[in-house]
Amino acid sequence: MKLLLLRCPRCNHALSPDQDDQVVQCPNCRAAVAINEAGVELVNAHYAAPSGNPSHWLPFWVYLGQVTIRERKTQGGRSAEQEAQAFWARPRRLYIPAWGIDLRQARDMISLLIQKQPSLEAIDPPAGTSFEPAVVTPADGRKLLELVIVSIEAARKDWMESLDYDLRLDSEALWLFPATRKGNEWQLLLKKF
Ligand SMILES: [Zn+2]
Repeated sequence: MKLLLLRCPRCNHALSPDQDDQVVQCPNCRAAVAINEAGVELVNAHYAAPSGNPSHWLPFWVYLGQVTIRERKTQGGRSAEQEAQAFWARPRRLYIPAWGIDLRQARDMISLLIQKQPSLEAIDPPAGTSFEPAVVTPADGRKLLELVIVSIEAARKDWMESLDYDLRLDSEALWLFPATRKGNEWQLLLKKF
């Protein structure tokens, strides 16, 4: 086994990521550092403006997503085809929770964010903040996102049987969202959310 000492590309401080960590914070200069097979790389992480006092900062992969519905089969209830087409007519911001969140909460959070489309306002990194490491890769997150898109369509009132659609994800960016925790539940503290 080859052990590689990883150092922050900005300040050269030693990093000690866990096995699943994709993006960690340098404990010294607080830079966001991606860890991959090629080594380490600085990531431009955007902090989103908070409402209230966050206790945590949570990583999300954020995209401009274009969903194109090719075919939507229903059992012939009231057609929600137009509703679906209107909902996806323009690109929407799509979000993948990237820290170690449980699957149920991740699904609920993706669905809420897709429907509410909060406006994200980037701020300077708040002094002294630390963020949760990102452990979900964009590729793994995409599968979850696809499940949520299908579940949003399945919730329309036309007894959908199957959905054939194309998903395009553009402008990948890492955002850090302000949050608090109530018991086991995460609560996002985004402005106007
Ligand atoms: Zn550093």
